[in-house]
Order: sequence, then structure tokens, then C-alpha cells
Amino acid sequence: MSCDCFSEQQFLSVEQAINNIVDNIEAITEFEEVNLDQALNRVLFADQVSPVQVPPHDNSAMDGYAVNFDSLATSTTTKLIGKSMAGEPYFGTCGLGECVRIMTGAVIPDGCDTVIMQEHCQVEGDKVSFLKDVRKAQNVRFAGEDIDNAQTILHRGKRLNAIDIALLASVGIASVKVYRKIKVALIATGDELKAAGQPLSAGDIYESNGHFLKHMLAKINADVIDYGIIADDFDLIKQAFCDADEAADVVISSGGVSVGDADYTKMVLDDIGKIGFWKISMKPGKPLAFGLLPNSTFFGLPGNPVSAAVTFYQIAMQGITKIAGATPIKRMRLPAVTLTELRKAPGRTDFQRGNYHVDESGRVVVKTTGTQGSGVLSSIGRANCFIIMDKDQGGVSAGESVVIEPFDALLGD
Ligand code: AMP
Ligand code: MG
Repeated sequence: MSCDCFSEQQFLSVEQAINNIVDNIEAITEFEEVNLDQALNRVLFADQVSPVQVPPHDNSAMDGYAVNFDSLATSTTTKLIGKSMAGEPYFGTCGLGECVRIMTGAVIPDGCDTVIMQEHCQVEGDKVSFLKDVRKAQNVRFAGEDIDNAQTILHRGKRLNAIDIALLASVGIASVKVYRKIKVALIATGDELKAAGQPLSAGDIYESNGHFLKHMLAKINADVIDYGIIADDFDLIKQAFCDADEAADVVISSGGVSVGDADYTKMVLDDIGKIGFWKISMKPGKPLAFGLLPNSTFFGLPGNPVSAAVTFYQIAMQGITKIAGATPIKRMRLPAVTLTELRKAPGRTDFQRGNYHVDESGRVVVKTTGTQGSGVLSSIGRANCFIIMDKDQGGVSAGESVVIEPFDALLGD
């Protein structure tokens, strides 16, 4: 083990937390075979090698006439001897001084190496003359120029998107081995939590973390087992954690990690697993628990909805990606000019919520969404990016450059 990740620690940086997690977990090892219709967002278990070359034969990129380039040195008028259509090749051989009518995608006939587009040809009876300079091999797509036989087209760990699936189909692969779906158990802890639709009593609030997590996990095709809301009670929490650990690869709880009076999570987890309760120098999100239960990996997110969302998105997701067998994708970060002042005290990495766009002069500019409290869920709802501010930096004035990480692609789908 690269560190003592399971004990109380002083502040960890975001990177240290991610490294500690990733170094201490393994991908699941089970796989299944699915056909392409079931493959969206699944993770490849093996490299995919093309059994064919693409295109399978030299073919035309244009509607026009196929010729032997060398024969044009003698005369630019040729005799039309046949036609080659997509799916209906010309089976004869085209000699010097001859040409074959050809359509886009059709096989280049034997003896030909060049296609002249029909707009550059003059046809009179069976005589076809070429009006423009011709380059050898123009408008020919060569066999194997896109994909070679036995070429690796996708690597193990790739989470399949629509183009990947089309690519597999284009080489004739109808089914693929993928990691089985991971099972993720969700537990929301807190006496004050009520499910939407229920009446609130004095001091209650509505539970929302479970909803966010469920739908984020659905995007990566995890099977979610929802244990709902569990009251702050040692026995109930212990029962829920033990059940979740039996049923799932990953257990995610929210709330109860900041070690207040009613936070039984720590007591239960100390009892049944090997868990570290971390303080991470990030804002929002400070507390996070991570560790190993007897059969599963555990993430304990803070209860505040913004903190839960940000720690899940920035940290826990990296671990879940590895457990699912998927290759991590580096999220795009780019510079932007802030149009508003951004307040910050040195000491923690800030993930402020912002709105970016490209202005009339082509600059990427960003504005804060305002109140950045860790309970203000609407501050994420109004945002399309994080404004990431380094641990050691202070605030910045309007007009200065900052780093943003767009998240609309993930949250907006
Ligand atoms: P805790 O981490 O349990 O101290 O909770 C911190 C804050 O987050 C408190 O105001 C809780 O009421 C709130 N909270 C905890 N869990 C949830 C949840 N699942 N959904 C919405 N708010 C929550
Ligand atoms: Mg609580």
C-alpha cells in the first residue's frame, strides 16, 4: 500500500486524494458479451482488432469515369466499355485508351487507377474526353486506407460511444466483450431527511443527494441499488452498510462524515471496514471518507448537496471509473478571462461555479454564478463550468485569466 490511507490524516490535496484512491482499488474482473445494440456506454474488456480492411477494395470517391492514367499520355479521349456501380462491379479489364463509367463507392475496375469526375468529362456516344488536367490516382479511395486488416481499432477500457459502435459495425463486429456493469449502493444518512413528496416536519429538509448520484451513475451505466434514507441510528446504519456491502461493488453514502454528534457513520465504518476520514483542502467538499468494506469499496461524501456533487464528480468518479474497468478521461481545462471579481482565500483548491461563453472577439470569458455556499444547489444548476482556483492563490479581479473546466457535456445530456 502506497500510503496509510485509512487513518485520520491532516489535509490532503485533491490530487493526493485521487492518487490514494486509485492506488488502492482494482477493476472488477468479470465480463459478458453484448451485441452492439446493448453496447452504448459499456466498457470494452478486450482490445478490438479489425477482421477486415476498410474500405475492402479500391473504390471511387466520385461519380465519373475510371481510366488508366498512363493511357492519357497518348490521348485524352477514351472508349467507354462498361460501368461499375456500388455493389455491382465491372468484372472485365479496362485496357489502354478505354474507360469505365463509375459511381461513388464502386470498385475500381482492373486496369484502372484514376477517376475523373463527370463534370470534367465530355461524353459523345461511347467517346469520353477529359477536359481538365488529370492527376494519377485522383478520386480513388484505396483498400485499407481507413483501417488495415488486424489493426487495433479500440482499446480495452474504452467506454463505447455512438461512433465507437458504428466503427465496430463498419468492420463487421456484431458483439463485444465488456466489463459487467458495476453495482453501486446509495445510502443517504440523516434524521432530518425526507423524500420528495412527503410532508416536512419542523427541522426537516428534502433529500436530494441520492437523486443526483443515481442519475450520474446511470450515465456511466452502473446498476444502482438505492437504500434510501437511513436515520442517524447506529444499528440501522450498520445494517444498511452491511446489506449494501453484500450487494454492491461500491457503496456511496452521503452525510455524517464530518464527525458531529449524530454522525454514526464513522463509528459503524470503523466497526466493519478499513476507512480513512479525510480532510481535503478543497472548497466545497472538505470531508470525505474512503476505504474498503469486506466486499466493496466505500466513498463517504459530505452531506451538503454542492459538496456531495463536487466531491463525487471530482474525486469519487475517478475511483469508480477504475473499478468499472474504464480508462480515465482527462477532462478539458482551459483558460478564460473572468468578467467578475472572484473572491478566494489561499489554502484550498476552489471549484467555484461559473458560466462561460465565447464573446464577440473570440475570447473565452466566464462569470461566477454568485453565491457559492456549499448548500446552494442552484449555484450548480445555473452553471456550465467549474472555475478552478489553485490551492495557494488568492482572489482575482475582473479581467484576469482563470482556469475553467466545462461540465455541461456531462450534466447537460
Ligand atoms: P452532514 O454531512 O450529515 O453533517 O450534513 C451536512 C448538511 O447537508 C446538513 O445541512 C444536512 O441536512 C445536509 N444533507 C445531508 N444529507 C443530505 C442529502 N442526502 N440531501 C440533501 N441534504 C443533505
Ligand atoms: Mg447528518
